[in-house]
Amino acid sequence: MKRPALFTTSWDDGHPLDLRVADLLHKHGLQGTFYVPGRVAPGGSCNPDGFAVMPTPALRRLGAEFEIGSHTLDHRSLDGLPIDAARHQIVAGKRWLEDQLGRPVAGFCYPNGHHNAAVCGLVRESGFQYGRTTEDMHAGLPADPFRMPVSLHFYPRRRVDIARGFVREERRRLGEWRWPRRLPTFLAAVTRDDFGARFRALVDRVCERGGVFHMWGHSWEVDRFNGWALLDSALRYAAERVPAEARVSNAEIARAAAPSGQIRPLMEA
Ligand SMILES: [Zn+2]
Repeated sequence: MKRPALFTTSWDDGHPLDLRVADLLHKHGLQGTFYVPGRVAPGGSCNPDGFAVMPTPALRRLGAEFEIGSHTLDHRSLDGLPIDAARHQIVAGKRWLEDQLGRPVAGFCYPNGHHNAAVCGLVRESGFQYGRTTEDMHAGLPADPFRMPVSLHFYPRRRVDIARGFVREERRRLGEWRWPRRLPTFLAAVTRDDFGARFRALVDRVCERGGVFHMWGHSWEVDRFNGWALLDSALRYAAERVPAEARVSNAEIARAAAPSGQIRPLMEA
């Protein structure tokens, strides 16, 4: 039996340009999850790490249509922090976001993709229901919801950099044998030079064979490489191919991956 196909996107850092991504997702009737770090530095529109973050009214507007997940309090890589400091970043970031939105937050995203078993455990203990990583070239449901992988970074990477990234990720997780699962998506990606062709090939693969296509990116990065027209055309292609019921948030991916009997609502109003 063919596995169902699911399409999701995610956008990190809570930059004010996230609203422009949201407009494109809305235009094409697609879903996405936005991961927003916490507090704004006193008197400014940046978080203490120097990243611009959207003001609360914009965050609430975004949250009225899309899932919002946490990205720590100060956008800190957690794997190098003392355990208490990492816990504080996770718990206080969740509380801050829930206060802004007035609703529970189910999703978490590891800043810079950095995580380890201890960090994943902290995210689970803190009441989140899943954690998204930056481990790419996956096209299936997550085996562990606290290590939710992605398929493709929205960035026109050179083929040699895709190959280097694939090897780097395997070396980071030595002995975990991820490459057999990643290899088919990697081959489909690395054999196409042009980002648009690469994106279409990966979407087509999932539509034909089932599985998950999960594109992630940063709105500030799209702006930096002038990729708005490319994003518009990629999302238009996905909207032509992906049926309405397969367009989901990251939380719905986590939910679809939960063993039967353990599925519970992730997005309470
Ligand atoms: Zn980030």
